[in-house]
Amino acid sequence: MSRTDQITPQPNCTDPVEAGMLSVAEALTRMQAELTPLAHTEKLALRQALGRVLAESIISPINVPAHTNSAMDGYAINGADLPESGTVVLQEIGTAWAGRPCSLEVQRGQCVRIMTGASMPAGTDTVVIQERVEAENGQIRIGTGERTGQNVRAAGEDLAQGDVVLQAGRLVMPPELGLLASLGFAEVTVLRRLRVAFFSTGDELRSLGEPLSDGQIYDSNRYTLYGMLERLGVDVIDMGVVRDDRAALTAAFNAAADCADVLITSGGVSVGEADFTKAVLSELGQIQFWKIAMKPGRPLAFGKIKDMAFFGLPGNPVAVMVTFYQFVQPLLQYLQGQSPLLANPTVKVRSLSRFRKKAGRAEFPRGILSQTETGEWVVQVSGKQGSGILRSMSDGNCFVLLSETQETVEPDDFVMVQPFVGMM
Ligand code: AMP
Ligand code: MG
Repeated sequence: MSRTDQITPQPNCTDPVEAGMLSVAEALTRMQAELTPLAHTEKLALRQALGRVLAESIISPINVPAHTNSAMDGYAINGADLPESGTVVLQEIGTAWAGRPCSLEVQRGQCVRIMTGASMPAGTDTVVIQERVEAENGQIRIGTGERTGQNVRAAGEDLAQGDVVLQAGRLVMPPELGLLASLGFAEVTVLRRLRVAFFSTGDELRSLGEPLSDGQIYDSNRYTLYGMLERLGVDVIDMGVVRDDRAALTAAFNAAADCADVLITSGGVSVGEADFTKAVLSELGQIQFWKIAMKPGRPLAFGKIKDMAFFGLPGNPVAVMVTFYQFVQPLLQYLQGQSPLLANPTVKVRSLSRFRKKAGRAEFPRGILSQTETGEWVVQVSGKQGSGILRSMSDGNCFVLLSETQETVEPDDFVMVQPFVGMM
């Protein structure tokens, strides 16, 4: 009998690629195809709409600006009076103030002193700024170099009545608040907030305030998840820690499905625990266990429990954050009705570090983006990169995006990075 000193290893997360693994983009597309955006709307006072998604397109009810007006302080004139050479003298017949009606009618050879924002008086189409005029004894003298129509803002130039100003699905940010106010909207119809429940699984987890015994750790995922969800502006429902126990998990899944649009859990989907979680979930809904060609974050459960979308994220703290930002956040934005206008920007910068990389899977190491003395943006690795080392996120300020086909990055190679700012 021949004896071998080798064992046959099972597939594991140190394998570069494993048959049947999905790429990040493919997984995202498949998940999106199974989700339907919210349709419930509510009417809010304008300021309350900050961070919410418009349920209806906004049509301008007025022209902005409403009246043709002066863009500068100066003199309103008829452009036909401008001299072709030399100078011309015009008679000043009064002043047009912003916000006050002006009944002056300007004849040829006359002008009106005008303030920024004041409506153009009848008979004028041009403003000459005060710095380019000599004014004396009720008369002004203008030289050459002026142009008919200059320094005038036409009615409707910004927005014409009937224009679509903002499309349904637009996230209301500070510019949109101002834009809506400029059109006179005191209220807007937005989609209701997404209700997102979350809990942590694991017998080793303790809540803050409890003492730690051997092998126990504090539950940090509920805090990162809380932070990420709050920043996204959804209604968060914190369901605490749920033990790795069939009855406790079943009860928690059912309770979430009764009140939430989405449930996010962490832990329980790794090789060692997936069978147990699968057994619990298979009775409750249509859940698939996915292997995604990425690091960290390879195992992921996704599906539906009743009408609720379910994301079963890995337990490791960095894997939770990476999968949240790469999958969950864009899909929550989609569920919230948000148009994908504000995709997280990525930029290509020079790397100062070496990033070891296995081909065939996407990797998301954390980096520190900084500016050199010459003004160039560069990235370096943010310390130790284990999927449990949350400091790599905290010390970092960007993800380094290493695609499936990317190979090891050497110092001075260029890499794509995705800054945390804006995304978080
Ligand atoms: P699991 O996916 O449940 O096997 O967990 C993988 C690793 O993540 C284990 O080392 C867990 O102790 C750790 N982990 C799981 N859940 C949490 C949590 N809520 N907070 C911090 N670490 C966790
Ligand atoms: Mg666990």
